[in-house]
Amino acid sequence: MRIIRSLSRQRALGDLWRRRGMSVGFVPTMGCLHAGHMSLVRFSLASTVRTVVSIFVNPMQFGPREDLARYPRALARDKRMLAKAGVHALFVPPAGSMYPRGFATSVKTAGGLTERLCGRFRPRHFEGVATVVAKLLNIVRPDVLFLGKKDAQQARILEQVTRDLNFPCAVRICPTVREPDGLAMSSRNVYLSPAQRKAASYLFQALQVGRLAISRGERDARAVRGRMRDVLAGRRGLRIQYLEIVGADTLEPIAKLRGRILLALAAKLGGTRLIDNLPVEVPGK
Ligand code: AMP
Repeated sequence: MRIIRSLSRQRALGDLWRRRGMSVGFVPTMGCLHAGHMSLVRFSLASTVRTVVSIFVNPMQFGPREDLARYPRALARDKRMLAKAGVHALFVPPAGSMYPRGFATSVKTAGGLTERLCGRFRPRHFEGVATVVAKLLNIVRPDVLFLGKKDAQQARILEQVTRDLNFPCAVRICPTVREPDGLAMSSRNVYLSPAQRKAASYLFQALQVGRLAISRGERDARAVRGRMRDVLAGRRGLRIQYLEIVGADTLEPIAKLRGRILLALAAKLGGTRLIDNLPVEVPGK
């Protein structure tokens, strides 16, 4: 596996591969890799000839009071995992090369997509994500961008950005990988105390209870949300930030459930913020 820090060397490598007719898959990450990241890597390895993974803890997507400084880092371990999996290149750009002095551009998706759900609690987060991913796509120039459904809003926004800005890559959104008790894998799970870790497992239970209510015929979003809230009520140390049912494409809240929807939630456990979601296809008209 090549380890590349220079933006121009990464671009040259991608160009070389493309000239040789090889398709390139790309998995952008912030490192501290877990089985969720590795499933994206495997999807890429299985469907493209060359796979590039990036590790970059992007300062632009963290708010001033968020966990940028203490975000978990495990580069040596990450390198071993990626090399063992058969990844062809690991791109680890220095922050100074990504955001040199005078950097002044950002990519912002208009309206609802960025302002809803997590956007309400992390004001410029998705602007930071969209900007860094646009930059990474221009450097790596992949044929396929692999993203996780775990971050459903991020995936939806990046789908929009690649389409609106004519990036010549397909976007593939891969399923959420979970711990045995259902907790969605996240680099931030390492922050949780044993008691918080236990409480965190109820997030997925709440989503499942919502899905079950829908499968039993409930079509009123308020009623479903009420059932989900009941699962989380009284869990010590767990504070819900939002618990919403939205259209899968628009991310707009819906009252009467139909079509492709997303049950989405965010909660704080102490200082740790976790998100999760469950896509549901509501049968009938
Ligand atoms: P991150 O390192 O948290 O920025 O995540 C990098 C990529 O991995 C994003 O596309 C995430 O959506 C994806 N990802 C993170 N956690 C999971 C998970 N549990 N299952 C599947 N994909 C994930």
